[in-house]
Amino acid sequence: MALRERLRRLAQRPGSADIGPLQAVVAEAGRREDDVRALDDAALTAAVAELRETGLRADADLAAFCALGREAARRALGERPFDVQLVGVLALLSGRVAEMATGEGKTLAGALAAAGHALRGRRVHVLSVNDYLARRDAEWMRPLHALLGMTSGWVVQESAPDERRAAYAADITYAPVSEVGFDLLRDRLATDPDALVLPEPGVALIDEADSVLVDEAMVPLVLAGNADDEPTTDTAVSPDEPTPTDLAVSPDQPTPTDLPGDHAELVRRLRPGRDYTTDEEARNVQLTPAGAREVERALGGIDLYAPAHLPTLTAVNLALHAEALLHRDVDYIVRDGAVKLISESRGRVALLQRWPDGLHAAVEAKERLAASPGGEILDSITVQELIGRYPVRCGMTGTALAVAGQLREFYELDVVVVPPNRPRIRVDEPDRLYATADDRDVAVVEVIADAHAAGRPVLAGTPDVAASERLARRLRRAGLDPVVLNAKNDAAEAAIIAEAGAYGAITVSTQMAGRGTDIRLGGADGADRDRAAEAGGLLVVGTGHYHSSRLDDQLRGRAGRQGDPGGSVFLTALTDDLVTRYAPDQTYDGPTADDGLVTDKGAHWIAGHAQRVAEGVDLEIHRNTWRYNHLIGLQREDVLAERDRVLRGDAGDALMRDRAAAHHRELTDAAGEDAVAAAARQLVLFHLDRTWSRHLAYLADLREGIHLRSLGRGLDPLVEFNREAVPAGKRLLADARDAAVEAFNALPPDVDLTAAGVRRPTATWTYIAHDNPFGTLDERAFRGLVAMFTGRRGRSS
Ligand code: ADP
Repeated sequence: MALRERLRRLAQRPGSADIGPLQAVVAEAGRREDDVRALDDAALTAAVAELRETGLRADADLAAFCALGREAARRALGERPFDVQLVGVLALLSGRVAEMATGEGKTLAGALAAAGHALRGRRVHVLSVNDYLARRDAEWMRPLHALLGMTSGWVVQESAPDERRAAYAADITYAPVSEVGFDLLRDRLATDPDALVLPEPGVALIDEADSVLVDEAMVPLVLAGNADDEPTTDTAVSPDEPTPTDLAVSPDQPTPTDLPGDHAELVRRLRPGRDYTTDEEARNVQLTPAGAREVERALGGIDLYAPAHLPTLTAVNLALHAEALLHRDVDYIVRDGAVKLISESRGRVALLQRWPDGLHAAVEAKERLAASPGGEILDSITVQELIGRYPVRCGMTGTALAVAGQLREFYELDVVVVPPNRPRIRVDEPDRLYATADDRDVAVVEVIADAHAAGRPVLAGTPDVAASERLARRLRRAGLDPVVLNAKNDAAEAAIIAEAGAYGAITVSTQMAGRGTDIRLGGADGADRDRAAEAGGLLVVGTGHYHSSRLDDQLRGRAGRQGDPGGSVFLTALTDDLVTRYAPDQTYDGPTADDGLVTDKGAHWIAGHAQRVAEGVDLEIHRNTWRYNHLIGLQREDVLAERDRVLRGDAGDALMRDRAAAHHRELTDAAGEDAVAAAARQLVLFHLDRTWSRHLAYLADLREGIHLRSLGRGLDPLVEFNREAVPAGKRLLADARDAAVEAFNALPPDVDLTAAGVRRPTATWTYIAHDNPFGTLDERAFRGLVAMFTGRRGRSS
């Protein structure tokens, strides 16, 4: 091997693929630049179209595409892609994840790669993390795509079904991951092939790939509806039972009520520590024996733990969760008389999202708000499953290398580290560690005030919205005037972020993931660039570390873009949540300076260790959740395959001819073949969907139950789960068919489906189950195990 080659390989970062071959293609594209400039627009578009035939695999074709794409961007957008951007394009076209720092121009690289993938004959979805970015990027890149001879479209939350269909029919579609997931879920309930919205999956090009593929991967996207309106026993009140509002408690009365409002009142009267305990790490809350007695007394002397009172116990637990674990302005805000969730990872209001029904109602009750309608889960899918459907995947992000192992493990994706266009000169100062959060907060204000005195723009990152507010208050008391970013809408936020680099600006924000807006030095128009640069460029101040170093890097990466001057410093405290939660056994009682500064190496080690433990826990949760979901995914595939045969074919009618032959003949005589075939189709679809939704509910209960049973008994919950879930899954299709045949036999001669009990949901809604503050069941199960292994008990138990 030539020495140069060996040196180049040495310089390559571990975990990252070799970019040498890509750079060679880019160099060739550079040599073609002059030729391409000579083409007029029509000739340029035609030259791109010619590449369609080649499949865009050979280096020469890729180089031709890069040259044409660069020229098109120059003409359509006024930006000539840098060589490193073209390296990014090639990485994306090779089906890998490109790590490109903030401000390097990922939007443009992604748009060119999307066009390249489209030339290969597949539809491309450019998946973003929110509506704002999907629409912004699609509109921004539209002239480029048009010049390349491609159509493009975008989907956002408000898009109507027709608009969605049109957007998905384009060569390139920009959409938030969640909207594509919701469209898929809705399509899976379609009763008419013409109502389908999504085409076959082609290429997924994922923006902020680590956020989507790792952090949010196991988040269920949920479709719920008011599907099942059979009267149930819990709403039918017989005269001799107490009425639901009857809380007048006398000792000889049975359970009075399971209304959330009453339970909220009840738990509000309980005293933390005495009546219930919370466990920081497991994020669980439990009644103490004294608390249980208090609840039992208030509910009329019932035995709370008797099997008959399980619904009451559950309801009390939900109320307790809402009371003790969910904090207003941290986990949710109340706006316009409704509870709006704050997405923990992004610190923003998550539109149209709600917690699982019981919990949502409990929080509404806690805040004394009117209850919003509940429903049942019709289907759900995780982001990982959604992405797994695409035969071709690629992505881009500023922070990929740190999760290269997971991208490989879960998606078979490799990472390519693309060097910056101009060398980075950002100065990252070593961490400053303080004994207490209070010491740290004082120091943070000082650091910001000092930087500001010199006119230096400052971006301060906090762990959550409440911390942002606290910091802002401290800054205002110090005579400063910060702009606080939290829980605003994405577009307004983008405008504020764009100004964060202005001379003298102070911006306070929670986590930066999903805030895909560039921070230019000197403000959005760069007016004050020189002054801001002279003052040292953007200074990023982190107040405490996040639960992964990647999130720290995302914040840090906002400074020093495109070779600008800039700096970053993190000020952490030994009392930060991250440290007390993940390194509970490590304590430091050595010396501290007067201002609380701790320089001891061991103490610094503890802070770093806590973050590594947190990262390890997150990874185990991901793996564990994936194991559960894998089985459910396989079962869903069976149901969907059957559904497709019924929806698009005559499997429904064939089933009835076979299993209900006599009635089929009678109905055909009365109503005609077509009407009977249509009714058979609807009946089978209805029962497939209903069987599936009930199966999901059953699996959820099963998991909850197994989780409780296996804790402390050394059983493997997954094995226990599979033992029951596998046979239940095997019965699914047979159960659905039996139910459909039975319903068919009850069809009257006019084939009136409502007479056969077919009631489709009159309303459906979607949410991201993400924001369950104590995590998904798997997370709780896993955290419980961690707590057991480390012998940790609740704080006050
Ligand atoms: P990223 O998503 O990588 O942080 P963006 O796609 O938001 O970066 O781009 C950052 C800024 O750089 C945008 O204002 C964009 O217009 C600009 N930009 C991107 N590529 C180029 C280029 N080749 N020449 C000049 N400006 C560019």
